[in-house]
Amino acid sequence: MSRAVTAPLFPLFADLRDRAVLVVGGGTVAERKVEALLHAGALPVVGSPDLTDALQAWLEAGRIRWLAGEFHEDWLHEVWLVIAATDDVAVNRAVAAAANTLRILANVVDDAELSSFHVPAIVQRGPLQVAISSGGSAPMLARHIRKQFETLLDDSLGTLAELLARNRERIRARFPDLGLRRRFFENLLAGPLPRLLRQRLDSEQANEYLHGVLEAATTTQATGSVVLVGAGPGDPGLVTLNALRAMSEADVILHDRLVSAEVLRLARRDATRIEVGKSATGHSVRQEEIHALMLQHARAGKRVLRLKGGDPFVFGRGGEELEFLRAHDIPYEVVPGITAAVACAAYAGIPLTHRDHAQSLRLVTAHCRDSLNALDDGGLDWEALAQEKQTLAVYMGVAGLEKVRERLLLAGVAPDLPFALVENGSRPQQRVIAGTLATLPETARHHAVQSPALLVLGEVAALAGTLHWFGPAPLLPPSQFPSQHPDNLRAPTLPRAA
Ligand code: SAH
Repeated sequence: MSRAVTAPLFPLFADLRDRAVLVVGGGTVAERKVEALLHAGALPVVGSPDLTDALQAWLEAGRIRWLAGEFHEDWLHEVWLVIAATDDVAVNRAVAAAANTLRILANVVDDAELSSFHVPAIVQRGPLQVAISSGGSAPMLARHIRKQFETLLDDSLGTLAELLARNRERIRARFPDLGLRRRFFENLLAGPLPRLLRQRLDSEQANEYLHGVLEAATTTQATGSVVLVGAGPGDPGLVTLNALRAMSEADVILHDRLVSAEVLRLARRDATRIEVGKSATGHSVRQEEIHALMLQHARAGKRVLRLKGGDPFVFGRGGEELEFLRAHDIPYEVVPGITAAVACAAYAGIPLTHRDHAQSLRLVTAHCRDSLNALDDGGLDWEALAQEKQTLAVYMGVAGLEKVRERLLLAGVAPDLPFALVENGSRPQQRVIAGTLATLPETARHHAVQSPALLVLGEVAALAGTLHWFGPAPLLPPSQFPSQHPDNLRAPTLPRAA
């Protein structure tokens, strides 16, 4: 059944109050299901030849109905849902098939294949419920997660949920505007209330407290702001807690192409998302347009999240964006992120500094208009980059590898200086390509290295061969052009750039 393999279940909380639900089976499993249905206010109809004592007691108390005997599909005619809880596979199958024909959702206990709805594992705190499901694929995992939530979610959350339900209309009346209301809730929940409840403020005291906060809250349009956030290199585990907070509070998200889908998934679902990514080839949104978008949304009172790959202040034009915001009096904040050099090195097993190999680190880009030129032609200071015992981390370098090699060799770098190219660093598809400067561009071409990739040059790069731990081992130059081939060790006799 490809349907079951490819598509996730649609999560659903059903209102079963006063609705008939058929439970086929009269044993202890059926008893548990009936109990859960009664808890949800449903009207259980039990169909079975006989009943357990507890089922019998519910029958006598008028809380359930009983259809005595073997399963008959007529039983399905007046119910909303059916649960097959017998220990007879044939009966369970018959129930599932009959329900399917009548388009009634059926759950067959412990049989994900036969079920058209699943019952999740639940963590409950008052009206607040967390439902966990693995879609039947890994029930033990779901149970394990449920246990973690049990310890994570405090009892006071139930009181909190009841308090908010009780004051729903009052809060709505005070903040008719959804944006302002949302902000009120966020401030309330980030404030002392949850802690006070944990310290056993009773529900009346909590109610009074909430009224006080409501009275004191400002109900005018809040001023917008921009938070410039580094999203890191792609692994969502490398997002900082501050970034996570900013991501969950954003109204509008302006993100780069470099921000991974896994990281974007952490951001608020109903925020407006605008991709303003720039690729090395096609400029999709110009910097001025990004500035204009930030201004427009911040002036409309929105909290704008400017989300950038890595760190916003490392080759991210974050400085320009802040200068612009400052000039237009828009309040801003900055959340640093883990920059590609730091992340790629870590995930490739390359210490950026090392007592024996490198005492300093330089971050350079091989993309800026003239950076690949000679120094006297507006380019990088290649002589300085050629110094020994340092590590170069070259951003945006994939397209300029020929030039990088040429400039460095001319500046006196040994052709056997190790390099490592880290493509998609920290992401599941990470690749590391290692070799020496002599055949850097050819090796990269051979392995079809794509952006985003970070080039690490220096003695430390060779350590990737032994210290790698994430993803596949480094790929090497093919044997047709071993780095140590004498032809490759000769520095090209190129003239200095005109
Ligand atoms: N502000 C970003 C850099 C933006 S420039 C930061 O601090 O990381 C874009 C360049 O960063 C890419 O061309 C590539 O060289 C590098 N880069 C960003 N993420 C990367 C990743 N996951 N793997 C390899 N290189 C990456």
